[in-house]
Amino acid sequence: MVQSLWNDDQAQEIARDAGANPADQDLALEVYASRLIGSNPALVQHGGGNTSCKATRRDLFGREIEVLHIKGSGWDLGNIEAEGMPAVRLDPLLKLRALDRLSDEDMVNAVRGTLLNSSAPNPSVEVLLHAYLPHKFINHTHATVMLALADLPNAAKVVREIFGDRIACVPFFMPGFALAKAAAKVAEAHPEAEGLLLLKHGHFAFAQEAKQAYERIIEHTNMAERWLENTRGTPVKKPSTTRAPAPSAASDILPLLRGILGQANAEFSGNIDAPMPVMDLRAGANVQEFLARPDIDTLATRGVATPDHVIRTKNRPLVLHTADIAGGPDAIKRAVDAYIDNYKAYFTPNAARFPEGKTMLNPAPTLAWIEGLGLVGMGLDAKAAAIAADQAQQGIVAMAYGEDCGGFHPVGEAEIFDMEYWSLEQAKLGKAKPPALAGRVVLITGGAGAIGLATAKAFAAKGADIFLVDLDEAALAQALDTLGAKRHAGAALDITEEDAATRAINACIERFGGLDILVSNAGAAWSGAMKDMDDALLRKSFELNFFAHQKFASAAARLFAIQGHGGQILFNVSKQAVNPGKNFGAYGLPKAATFFLLRQLALELGAAGVRVNGINADRIRSGLLDDAFIKERARARGIDEATYMAGNLLNREVEASHVADAFVTLALSPRTTAHVMTVDGGNIEAALR
Ligand SMILES: [Zn+2]
Repeated sequence: MVQSLWNDDQAQEIARDAGANPADQDLALEVYASRLIGSNPALVQHGGGNTSCKATRRDLFGREIEVLHIKGSGWDLGNIEAEGMPAVRLDPLLKLRALDRLSDEDMVNAVRGTLLNSSAPNPSVEVLLHAYLPHKFINHTHATVMLALADLPNAAKVVREIFGDRIACVPFFMPGFALAKAAAKVAEAHPEAEGLLLLKHGHFAFAQEAKQAYERIIEHTNMAERWLENTRGTPVKKPSTTRAPAPSAASDILPLLRGILGQANAEFSGNIDAPMPVMDLRAGANVQEFLARPDIDTLATRGVATPDHVIRTKNRPLVLHTADIAGGPDAIKRAVDAYIDNYKAYFTPNAARFPEGKTMLNPAPTLAWIEGLGLVGMGLDAKAAAIAADQAQQGIVAMAYGEDCGGFHPVGEAEIFDMEYWSLEQAKLGKAKPPALAGRVVLITGGAGAIGLATAKAFAAKGADIFLVDLDEAALAQALDTLGAKRHAGAALDITEEDAATRAINACIERFGGLDILVSNAGAAWSGAMKDMDDALLRKSFELNFFAHQKFASAAARLFAIQGHGGQILFNVSKQAVNPGKNFGAYGLPKAATFFLLRQLALELGAAGVRVNGINADRIRSGLLDDAFIKERARARGIDEATYMAGNLLNREVEASHVADAFVTLALSPRTTAHVMTVDGGNIEAALR
């Protein structure tokens, strides 16, 4: 059951803070209600749903005008602000209702012309529906249980049984002018109704007060949930949006599937370097129970619970059974090929209905149901994958309860095609260029240190998804916090432990589906003259500064081989590898070996498209070269600290961000391998030849 989170004291305070204008107070209360709705994934997810309120404002001449404040596109209900609910003049929108037809392009244009603030975001595509309903406060959700109802074959009968006259049903239309007109007609025929069920789409509830409109959403949703529970005889399990621990098979299956889909992406785009999808696995008891249903093959062909979802998950998931998995790469490839053929067979006849033609989207799946493993959302980056996975988790609840309570029959393929190939979406195709490293999963060892975190930030700024590995758990948590823990991830472990590389890379696979770039960065320096060097200390340095690099690189290379789609290894070498400093032998020796490893791996892995490069940096403020150490070294040379740090040909201090940018530069140089880039401000003695 969902709870009303409305708090009268809080609401009063919010209205008071909004000032004396009643329109501002109403808007503030609707913003409050919107946030309460948006904070519950059982009601709306990822920009879904929309809310509005009608108010009277004054124009520049002081005349009173009726306006509609409605959610602007690009805003999420969960954290919406008043500016996210721009005002449109109601009167010109009401006049449009006299038209027989209105294209989406004309609608968007006409609505933009009615904005009070010309630079406000585009109002929701459901703006006309809100405008044509007479009620002051209106909320629209895609609540899971309401979707289960909306997709029943006898939904109208069930709605009458549950709600009597309180909810009226609106037949399915694509969001836009036709739906707005149909909904208004139904609402006018049922003036007593306090809400609408948009068949095969979602739920509206309205009232003259913000609180009542919100609480009707909650009440209707709970009434639907109770009916489903009574009919099915089991409590409704909430769609979870968390990641349960992945079954161990994940690290075998996901990279294989990722590689096959990367190949499909390359074929579709004609670009051999096209990114593989980033994945988001959702396991958990709820999911396993669903995937164990005997009817999942049929359910997989039915479609999405609400049309919005098609954009992220496509209309059907790729289904992989235990037998497909057991059949290995060939069997998985056959399943993917069959999916793509099926998608093309859906595209061709539906596109032919449009005289202007349609451009086919990438036919590869963006959602997989993998028996014994879980639901896998896939997308260009971790954010897109998470949205697909969240929607899939909601989808299976609506599906299971709908199917067991009369049948899950969402909107058919012809209508869903209209949504997937909506002209406004098609117009955007190819216009937004994704960031250069979108879809690239980057694992960084020593990720919470100065250079590691700077590198993570530099890669994230180019659209990559980051997996940090660090020894220090608290520092790791803090680093992830600065980076954005919702999207990026990490593991705290000692990389010199025997199985550390395998554990770290498996954890990265479980979170993102695979790996594209390893930044083998972690290191530490121990000083002392060679003649007095303790053997154990030297071995310790070799464990961290050579063997850990070697193990992570080898584990990454084996994963790259499974993905079959190239890959990159980037080493943080060191000036010490080529230009020894007194008392730094324990550091320089293993770094020299790592330098050689870089070239050896570049030689051995090049044919598989794996590039291996590194950075030769010097004198960077970090855990290795901390303030006390800088002080000591500067004093030993009789100079101040700033002069010491800028002791290079450019007379400028080299910072961690310069090293980070160099790593990114190497990552973005598609025909560069076996290369070491020097980032030291210039040091002729240490220059590579
Ligand atoms: Zn909707």
